[in-house]
Amino acid sequence: MTLTPALFPALISAIAETITEQADAVTELDQAIGDGDHVFNLQRGIQALQAAAPEISGLDWPAAWQKIGMLLMSSVGGASGSLYATLFINLAKNSKDSTLSVVEFARLFDLAVTAVKQRGKADAGEKTMLDVLIPVAVKLQQDAAAGLTLAEIYADVRASAEAGVAATRDMLATKGRASFLGERSIGHIDAGAKTAQLMIAAVSSVLAQAGE
Ligand code: ADP
Ligand code: MG
Repeated sequence: MTLTPALFPALISAIAETITEQADAVTELDQAIGDGDHVFNLQRGIQALQAAAPEISGLDWPAAWQKIGMLLMSSVGGASGSLYATLFINLAKNSKDSTLSVVEFARLFDLAVTAVKQRGKADAGEKTMLDVLIPVAVKLQQDAAAGLTLAEIYADVRASAEAGVAATRDMLATKGRASFLGERSIGHIDAGAKTAQLMIAAVSSVLAQAGE
């Protein structure tokens, strides 16, 4: 089966659902080492994407990603808004054509995560969303190159996102607002890593249900 942006309404609904369900828990994390607005920021973006979902579902992937990136740029405040906008705009920018294999998506995702690293001047181990995005990008490329089934890839991606978010607990924050706390940032999970993991899990389960 081919995965097309026709799936977008289901994907964004699943994302909205998991973020709403976990909103209080994530806000608690963000209040501990951030300024507590992360869920609110994301929800503004999710609402903008839900409103545009009928239009996005009729586009091809590069146009859909570009539209998603632009909407996130204009609707989400905070550091996370420009970082997610960068992710999607770079998916669009590096796309060669509108048909998408797993190997091609893995390549695009890796390039997009590299662009997020550059935008945030951050890397793995700094207690941010990148501690989820980077291991997921690596795992996707390994699994795609090894020719694993989609079901195996979704399971691996979910597991590496979970391991990534858990690892942020013991990290010292060196980027973003949490870095202002220095050593006191240690012992708390990063809110942006948590929402990245929740969204990746939601996307993986919708895609897994959509079939091979
Ligand atoms: P703000 O920090 O501006 O209030 P949000 O609350 O929406 O923005 O997002 C905070 C999240 O963004 C953090 O939890 C972290 O995961 C991520 N983040 C912050 N700064 C960076 C950065 N330089 N690189 C990557 N991710 C970052
Ligand atoms: Mg914030």
